[in-house]
Amino acid sequence: MPHQHSHLADVEFDPELIARYDGSGPRYTSYPTADRFIEGPIAAQYVTALHQRQDARSSAALSLYVHLPFCDTVCYYCACNKIATKDRGRADVYLNYLEREIALVRAEFAVALAVTQLHLGGGTPTFLTNAQLSRHMQMLKQAFAFTLDAECSIEVDPRRLNDGALELLADHGFNRMSIGVQDLDPAVQKAVNRLQPAELTQAVIQKGRALGFRSINLDLIYGLPKQSVSTMQATLSTVLTWRPERIALYSYAHLPERFMPQRRIESADMPSATEKLAMLKLAVTTLLAAGYVYIGMDHFALPEDDLAIALEQGTLQRNFHGYSTQADCDLIALGVSAISRIGDTYAQNHRDLIDYYNTLDQQQLPLAKGLVMTRDDEIRRAAIHDLLCQSMLKIASFEQVWAIDFATYFAPELVQMQTLEHDGLVELTDDSIDITPRGRFLARIIAMRFDRHLREAKSLAKFSRVI
Ligand code: SF4
Repeated sequence: MPHQHSHLADVEFDPELIARYDGSGPRYTSYPTADRFIEGPIAAQYVTALHQRQDARSSAALSLYVHLPFCDTVCYYCACNKIATKDRGRADVYLNYLEREIALVRAEFAVALAVTQLHLGGGTPTFLTNAQLSRHMQMLKQAFAFTLDAECSIEVDPRRLNDGALELLADHGFNRMSIGVQDLDPAVQKAVNRLQPAELTQAVIQKGRALGFRSINLDLIYGLPKQSVSTMQATLSTVLTWRPERIALYSYAHLPERFMPQRRIESADMPSATEKLAMLKLAVTTLLAAGYVYIGMDHFALPEDDLAIALEQGTLQRNFHGYSTQADCDLIALGVSAISRIGDTYAQNHRDLIDYYNTLDQQQLPLAKGLVMTRDDEIRRAAIHDLLCQSMLKIASFEQVWAIDFATYFAPELVQMQTLEHDGLVELTDDSIDITPRGRFLARIIAMRFDRHLREAKSLAKFSRVI
């Protein structure tokens, strides 16, 4: 009997509970999280993992990610790995190196690998000129065999979109886009150095739809300087008239000591914790009332969107880009700082552009660090996956898959779960751990209890806050 997942869309916003559990924590776009990766030689293991995939004739889907790091202005809230420049020529050099990296990866395979998913992220992928974008896509298509129904998505900055770029992307098979919006209020936009009139965003959405982009995601942020419940309300009411298929609602984590651009934000402009929580409450209730489904950490989607359907059917996945509908897939990631995962091996490229270039100059994969998962990592990764993607963990089937006695293996975690149960975040039975509708906004708090590395880590300060 397949499990019924119809309750998964249920969610209850409990500000008191959220305030109580507010704290730092990872987003679990991977487990172990990237901060656990070990510096040093990983290339040999990574290549072995690539070969094993080939030898096993793995039918696992393959996803491709390319990091395009350039931005020509810097948004002050930004915590991404990007390079500020106005010089488009730098992207030509970067593409030369990407070409080398692609050739090195390609050389490990007898035949071109089938790719079912491509994502271009950044930085600002639309920083590239149309000629650069075309060259980039040709490089990828020569090395990889894109399936006809491949999901191709790109992060679009409406302020940096050349004439004809969307048409060109559509011609290359792009069918999804994610647009950074953050907030539509001019004072907020000024405070974060991202002036982007609503009309501009709207025009990109309309054009994208006309060109056949079937899913458009908008990124919003709460907790920005000059933001308030009333700016949030105004932003949401405009955004909802556009009816994007997906909305990501991120919490701004103000960590000026870690992220240089954030030092340009006036602390006097920052909303209080109470105001921030009120903004989150408003956003969540508004989106739910407008018919959006809460997918999980930060993400909402219309009920007819693939993510909402995957949630209902229990087939939702989580990867470096948030939630996905693609079954647990291998990921080859290219470009500076990009993180790949093949089988049990994570491998991350150099974060620094010079190191990235230098390594490629030596005809070596530009890998800086990585991690080969232990069996314990894999077991915990599976537990965290079930909790974040299905809001429950079925103990009997988990024990069967991993050949463990759950109560013994996770004895300390189950003790911790009792406190969470007492507070109404989870329900525990002998058969399952179920996240309650009230617990869904705090799913990462629950997931953190299964994170062995986190328990061993000294400081949590480097992670963003839960709200
Ligand atoms: S938020 Fe995006 S566009 Fe702005 S600086 Fe960061 S990477 Fe560039």
